[in-house]
Amino acid sequence: MMVRPKWLKPSSMVDLCQVTLNVRPAFRTEVQGEVSDAEIGRWARLRGLYFCRDRDNFVVFSKRSVLVRRLLAIDQTAGEHTVLLGQWLGYPRCCARTARRIGEKHLDAWSIQISGRRHVGNFSLTSVSQYAAGRALISHIPCSAHCPASLRMATQVLARSHRFQQRTANVLSSRGFHEDGRRCSLPQ
Ligand SMILES: [Zn+2]
Repeated sequence: MMVRPKWLKPSSMVDLCQVTLNVRPAFRTEVQGEVSDAEIGRWARLRGLYFCRDRDNFVVFSKRSVLVRRLLAIDQTAGEHTVLLGQWLGYPRCCARTARRIGEKHLDAWSIQISGRRHVGNFSLTSVSQYAAGRALISHIPCSAHCPASLRMATQVLARSHRFQQRTANVLSSRGFHEDGRRCSLPQ
């Protein structure tokens, strides 16, 4: 389980998980509280991530340094750039287009509205009602309660995190550790 540093919002753990599992190429978040660039840098390096922070305390993380710079540049250009930003952040095009149509000011209300709709069957995987608390599989507002692109993304997160945990468990046991870090007892 990944431990959250106090300067990272709980919701960012959903984004971090997606980027770690290569479901999305990058994520952007607002840093909370005081933290130095050196501290963010150390944390990012340990996870194989590059980062860039702007004057408004927004930080972009990615495994690709060029993407980090490009995303901050897009964000700092004047005018409407929801769809372009969404595309580089790896959000489904249908959802990014809907976000542009709704408008940034109304996104919170839109998120509540979508979360209140019935997510039938597997589409419950795309619910973002608990995203702020860091409990969700996707980190964007789906364009509807039955968005196929969002479902694909949520399913990918589940499948890859299962494989990731399996691999970690295999590596640990091959080195003589239990998954929780305890040493296996040596054979008699
Ligand atoms: Zn969509």
